[in-house]
Amino acid sequence: MSPPGPLVGIYPGSFDPVTRGHEDIARRTIRLADRVIVAVAHTATQKKSGLFTVDERIELLREVFADDDGIEVAAFSGLLVDFARSQGAHFVIRGLRAVSDFEYELQMAQMNQELWPEIETLFLAPEVDYSFISSSLVREVAKLGGEVKRFVSPVVRERLQAKFAG
Ligand code: ADP
Repeated sequence: MSPPGPLVGIYPGSFDPVTRGHEDIARRTIRLADRVIVAVAHTATQKKSGLFTVDERIELLREVFADDDGIEVAAFSGLLVDFARSQGAHFVIRGLRAVSDFEYELQMAQMNQELWPEIETLFLAPEVDYSFISSSLVREVAKLGGEVKRFVSPVVRERLQAKFAG
């Protein structure tokens, strides 16, 4: 059975800021879907306080994916499944870096399935060189004046330096 219309995937997260690991996952997803919506969760729905505002995260994501046809960026608040349904999405994408990610991710996937049985969650593995990268570690390294160019795109590196220089 072929899916009706274009296949749409949602890649949700905080992206504070977008890293090369996130980029890798979004670009792998666009090989499987017609559209990928990188969805930045509104800060009110997150436990941790952020470095960049949601608008700044979106701006960075748009710059990073400017040349990637089919990858779009949006913000959402409330339940992910409600946003996914409003966008006509067929699946949610999550990246798995290590086994330690798995327990929470599986729980979340099953909760989302409970909330909206039609949604599927797909897990993708990043290129091994990116599997240790997290936004929180990148923020930490940048804050302490470390070099982050292997972990983030040049535009993100510049913005991190500007944040911490001020
Ligand atoms: P959250 O705050 O919900 O963990 P993140 O923005 O940190 O959101 O990450 C969004 C998604 O991207 C999650 O599925 C996370 O596992 C995945 N991810 C983050 N960093 C990487 C990476 N280096 N490689 C693969 N997946 C990653």
